[in-house]
Amino acid sequence: MVVSQEEEIKDKLKEVFGFSGFRGTQEKIIKNILAGKNTFVLMPTGAGKSLCYQLPAIVSEGTAIVISPLIALMKNQVDQMNAFGINAQFLNSTLSRAEVKRVKEDTLSGEVKLLYVAPESLTKEENVAFLKEATISFAAIDEAHCISEWGHDFRPEYRRIKSIIGQLGDIPIIALTATATPKVQLDIQKNLNMEDADVFKSSFNRGNLYYEVRPKVQVKKQLIKFIKEHKGKSGIIYCLSRKKVEEIAEFLRVNDVNAAPYHAGLDSSVRMKNQDDFLNEDVDVIVATIAFGMGIDKPDVRFVIHYDTPKSLEGYYQETGRAGRDGLEGKCVMFYSLDDIIKLEKFNKDKPVTERENAKLLLEEMSAYAESSVCRRVQLLHYFGEEYTASDCTDQGMCDNCDHPKAKFDGQKYIELVLETAQKTGERFGIGHLVNVIRGIESQYVKSYDHNKLDVFKKGSEETEVFWRSLVRQTLLNELLKKDIETLGVLKLSDKGLEYMKNPYPIELSKDKDYTVDGGDDDDFSSNNVTKAYDEGLFDLLKGLRKKVAKQKNLPPYVIFQDPSLEEMATTYPTTKEDLAQVNGVGMGKVVKFGKPFLELIENYVEENDIETATEVVIKSAINKSKIKIFIIQQIDKKVGLEEIADAKGVSYDEIITEIENICYSGTKLNLDYYIDQIMDEDRQDDLYDYFLTADTDDIDVAMDELEYDDYSEDEVRLMRIKFMSEYAN
Ligand code: ADP
Ligand code: MG
Ligand code: ZN
Repeated sequence: MVVSQEEEIKDKLKEVFGFSGFRGTQEKIIKNILAGKNTFVLMPTGAGKSLCYQLPAIVSEGTAIVISPLIALMKNQVDQMNAFGINAQFLNSTLSRAEVKRVKEDTLSGEVKLLYVAPESLTKEENVAFLKEATISFAAIDEAHCISEWGHDFRPEYRRIKSIIGQLGDIPIIALTATATPKVQLDIQKNLNMEDADVFKSSFNRGNLYYEVRPKVQVKKQLIKFIKEHKGKSGIIYCLSRKKVEEIAEFLRVNDVNAAPYHAGLDSSVRMKNQDDFLNEDVDVIVATIAFGMGIDKPDVRFVIHYDTPKSLEGYYQETGRAGRDGLEGKCVMFYSLDDIIKLEKFNKDKPVTERENAKLLLEEMSAYAESSVCRRVQLLHYFGEEYTASDCTDQGMCDNCDHPKAKFDGQKYIELVLETAQKTGERFGIGHLVNVIRGIESQYVKSYDHNKLDVFKKGSEETEVFWRSLVRQTLLNELLKKDIETLGVLKLSDKGLEYMKNPYPIELSKDKDYTVDGGDDDDFSSNNVTKAYDEGLFDLLKGLRKKVAKQKNLPPYVIFQDPSLEEMATTYPTTKEDLAQVNGVGMGKVVKFGKPFLELIENYVEENDIETATEVVIKSAINKSKIKIFIIQQIDKKVGLEEIADAKGVSYDEIITEIENICYSGTKLNLDYYIDQIMDEDRQDDLYDYFLTADTDDIDVAMDELEYDDYSEDEVRLMRIKFMSEYAN
């Protein structure tokens, strides 16, 4: 019986994979590659790209080679295929010599249907020779965006793929990716020499994902609150550095969240275990660098949080794509701060010029996205070259900007000016130049083109640079301008834009958000850090109370609580003893001694002002008694001299005193009498003690000035301050 190809692939779909039907364009793609045509597949994560090459490989003569960037991914797919009873193998650096030999023999005998090859193995001389001998059905290039340096995941080895495949004869190529802007798409096609390819692009819209950008202030508190609200659900938190990953994972664990870290610096057995624990739901939250997630198929990830602002929108979209693969809830929260963007820019400093310029553009897109009030979906899909009208998102409130829309204004006259400026400057410039011309900035560059002589020059000088940049971007989002693909950044009028200039009409636009006012830092719970974003009203009341209490007890105010502690109270609104004890520099001892009136005041304040407190969100900072601190405390207990402690730890005397100050200021009582009695007589001690009792501040410089004529060394003053604080404040 002769079966048609159509029937054959349907049968195999059921027989091998157990699926009853194709999804989306899978069938068309499979037929296209089986017809020997170059094929380019753009499909979002989780849509089912692998099947597009696995199935045709099974029904074809010979072996299909699959190039994939990650060894872990490869192994995963090979295991899956073997479980289906398909002979799939891989060739990479993890194999022994004997294993390599066997793989090659199996391939040459024609048994192997899919041969997964790492790009660096593909370029090896002996492997190329071997592949030339084998019968190759076609080549699949997965994660094809790795080929483009304009993308977010560039791998130089990918650049050599084409020349090697070229040596294998005239075999069709299927390239697949879940992330490609129009620029990257073109770049991939050029580099693989497959501009003739049939392109299958699915919509990248993920209707079930909720996108949200939050200012990065008090981020740890926000994090705990969010996770507690999603208790028991699976989530991923992305951080930019390994160090941050460790810190946040520890912070979450201390706060009773079942979390584990994942990054490339961990021992591979630990990494694997943490990943498995997450997949098996022994761990709820995985805190990871972006090394985590590619190829991980966990359908019920309910949230993806970007703790740090990501490097590019492409990477961001890929990472958020791991939420809600099962089509159910998936919340994507990104914390944004300009500080992060500046940090990322610094990292790029040492890159070659083009790479740096490119990285900078990616960061600009990131900022523009975060600060915009336009529907997140419209922006994201536009970035991937897809036109999307916001109505679905708006109706269902599926992004923060649709959920809480900002007031709109009619942008017609502004858009007209933008278009006119683009046209009159010859459609050869990017956003920065256009904005400069509109605002009338007489830069060298503007003058060198005589653009200061255009009638549009300075026509929009009343509005700010931020306003105009946002305007130009929204003109782009409305498809009236388009980005030139070849010369990144150059803005040209689209046909729609030309038409608009002839027949303009009102278009609703919205103003960007202003993040500069928030401008906080992320480490608001670490010590020595002054949080700017505190409640000043409460702070003033707390200060007043402190003064009153200090008077009653006949103590200087700073002995009660220090300013940073009050600021933190005016940020976290503690209303229970336990909450108050979590505030930096407070501790239970102080709570018992001084806490009551402060708690009463905060409670009243919270009630009167209707403030939503976070009593359920008790933030505990990770206990950071580093080894040296513990050592010092133990040694002081044993009455060991400070010089000896310093010697034992190989640090200076000064550093030891600094450490002791830190210990003391974070609320631990230390008894240094044994040491102080050795180095100072009683009278001198009493003098300094009296000084601190009456001083307005515990500042050492101020103390040294005031005590100028008394001939105390700074060390003596510091030691007495420690004694004083230990006895009174702790
Ligand atoms: P991608 O590579 O596009 O991110 P995968 O190829 O890993 O996605 O596929 C994602 C999931 O979809 C896998 O669990 C896969 O088994 C499943 N899948 C793919 N095609 C189909 C289909 N036609 N019917 C049902 N499930 C499918
Ligand atoms: Mg894939
Ligand atoms: Zn929206």
